[in-house]
Amino acid sequence: MSIEDRSAVVVENPDGAGPFVIVCDHASNRIPEEYKSFGFAHDALQTHIAWDPGALAVARRLSNILDAQLFWPDVSRLVIDCNRAPDASSLIVTESEGRPVEANRGVSAAERARRLDRIHRPYHEAIDACLKRRRAAGEEPALIAIHSFTPVYFGKARPWQVGIVFGDDRRMADLLIHELEADPALTVGVNEPYSPADQVYYTVERHAGPRGLPAVMIEIRNDEIGDEAGQRCWADRLANILLAAKPGRVGVSHAAV
Ligand SMILES: [Zn+2]
Repeated sequence: MSIEDRSAVVVENPDGAGPFVIVCDHASNRIPEEYKSFGFAHDALQTHIAWDPGALAVARRLSNILDAQLFWPDVSRLVIDCNRAPDASSLIVTESEGRPVEANRGVSAAERARRLDRIHRPYHEAIDACLKRRRAAGEEPALIAIHSFTPVYFGKARPWQVGIVFGDDRRMADLLIHELEADPALTVGVNEPYSPADQVYYTVERHAGPRGLPAVMIEIRNDEIGDEAGQRCWADRLANILLAAKPGRVGVSHAAV
């Protein structure tokens, strides 16, 4: 099956009318048939190198509870990383956590352009179209990106169960950090384990930044969402916080509400 045979972009709950739009850039570990001959290692396809394990299930449940549109590319980040700028060196990785990704070594400019055209561009155009439509209807939805991260990276354990990643616009981040930190059982990463300086904020920045929409990236440690119970627990926890924020109040800092 080629990319043409199966859409590289999935839109769930396209008529969702809630005040949030959800994206899940690393939802899928699928390698389209045409790239299988490149020999991406099978064991790597189950790990965070290929996708964000658990993230899609959390995003889906959130989409249901919040009646939010959900966008995700159904192609592994090993083929192309939709959360990177088109000119980023990490758009098509040649190594991941020190391990070579042989299939991507020596990718030609034409092949790079082809992956951009068939996966990256339609994904971002779909999000663009949605946000344009919502704005034309007088709505200002908040954009939420759901990711997961590996508990150990380069041999170092990460203490946070969840990380809130944000740029200049702190509205959503402040709300989430405040509410999550109220639970003494949680260690909340504030721009940890990543921050926009790590070039991991592309999707949110591209779509929410110029429009001035409230936005945030939520990173959940993947051992927290490795099964259905964990996925449900995290989706419900986040949904409760977001629902309590209510449309129109998201833009107001927690101290003022
Ligand atoms: Zn991710």
